[in-house]
Amino acid sequence: MTAGSAGVPACGAAPRRRKAAATAAPVAPVALWEAFDEAMALLPADAAAPLAWCSPAFAARLALPEGGALPSLAGLCARLEGLAEGLALLAGARGAAARAGWDGEVRLAQGRGRRRAALRASLRRLPEGAGVPGGALALRLRAEPGHDLAARRHLEDRERLLFTSRSVAVGEMATTLAHELNQPLGAVTNVLRGLKTRLAAMPAQPGPEAMAHLAQGVQLALDQVQYAARIIGRIRDFTQSRQPRRERVDVNALLNNSLTLLDWELRRHGVQLCIDLRADTSADGGAPVAGDGVMLQQVLVNLLRNAIDAMGGTPAGQRRLAIESRLDDAGQLEIAIADTGSGIDHGAAAQLFTPFFSTKPTGMGIGLNICRSLIELHQGRLWFTPNAKRGCTFHIALPLAGPDEAGRLPRFLDAEEPVS
Ligand code: ADP
Repeated sequence: MTAGSAGVPACGAAPRRRKAAATAAPVAPVALWEAFDEAMALLPADAAAPLAWCSPAFAARLALPEGGALPSLAGLCARLEGLAEGLALLAGARGAAARAGWDGEVRLAQGRGRRRAALRASLRRLPEGAGVPGGALALRLRAEPGHDLAARRHLEDRERLLFTSRSVAVGEMATTLAHELNQPLGAVTNVLRGLKTRLAAMPAQPGPEAMAHLAQGVQLALDQVQYAARIIGRIRDFTQSRQPRRERVDVNALLNNSLTLLDWELRRHGVQLCIDLRADTSADGGAPVAGDGVMLQQVLVNLLRNAIDAMGGTPAGQRRLAIESRLDDAGQLEIAIADTGSGIDHGAAAQLFTPFFSTKPTGMGIGLNICRSLIELHQGRLWFTPNAKRGCTFHIALPLAGPDEAGRLPRFLDAEEPVS
């Protein structure tokens, strides 16, 4: 049976207008219930039969689809805890109560978990001749006193939670931004300090070689500032669309480029570089990665920086950074960054990717966590292994772009820049 059959209004139908009392035909009770916006239903005697009628307020409380089939009495009992027991009480009413109509009140519960609501229900056997087709049992639902207050509190709680989670998201983003911008800003500071020292030591008429050094320093500072601008741009993109870019990224060029960004740091710490890029990911080669170039560069810079930091206590002359790229047996690109630093003990290994774990006095401890998320976003893997002698090696495995896709994707700009 659908709503509105058996000569009664459909669930959700607008209340009928009452005509002037003098000329009006007898008003059906259903129209009265609708007019008072009561949550009412007429129940069938047979549990398997659908409800004979329900008011719009009842349909709304039970979230019944507008114009759809009404649930059976058994179905209603399954949704309203306590109704079956109330009906059993009504069936047991004897004598005068049964004749006059039993006006029992039962407590019902609807929904689960935080959506659970307490209801009061009146069940009434309608007297003969009530003029209601389709059913002789009436059910009226009301919210349990105090329930509205609880519902309001629940909504307020939810709002507060949503607000908190939004604040946390913004806070996390600010922390990420601060961490990521720290790197290029630190590098720019170093470069500018170096330039200042050189300028101070420079003769009044500098030769072409000195000028070339200055120009190189200015270029490095410029690179870092552009890098910082791209980080901000990516965060802006993230807040607007949350969509990472998909570009053709030449990882060998990206490695070279990242090393260039850290050039001053490497020199300052006297780090010896050993580069062995065997995977053919040159601009015209066949093994580029499809992904977000800025994200991948951030990962590389972070790992390289960590490696340099870890070698702070290594005697000068033994600070060595070995960078390797190769295609692994599964055909993935693997990058390994090995240092001769402090290494990672068991305790630190367990917490390494936990946000805010840092052994550095000014470290934020979220770099590795972000790196792993960024690599996983590219369907890759990030892990580390201890070195046999000293330090440790961080590894990245990334799937390669298929030749078709690589041909279609826009190039990540850094990969095209000349690498010194
Ligand atoms: P942060 O650099 O701000 O400390 P990270 O998440 O990048 O944050 O690193 C967390 C910690 O992991 C570092 O403080 C350091 O103790 C350890 N770590 C990371 N890379 C290395 C490394 N190459 N060698 C030794 N320890 C490392």
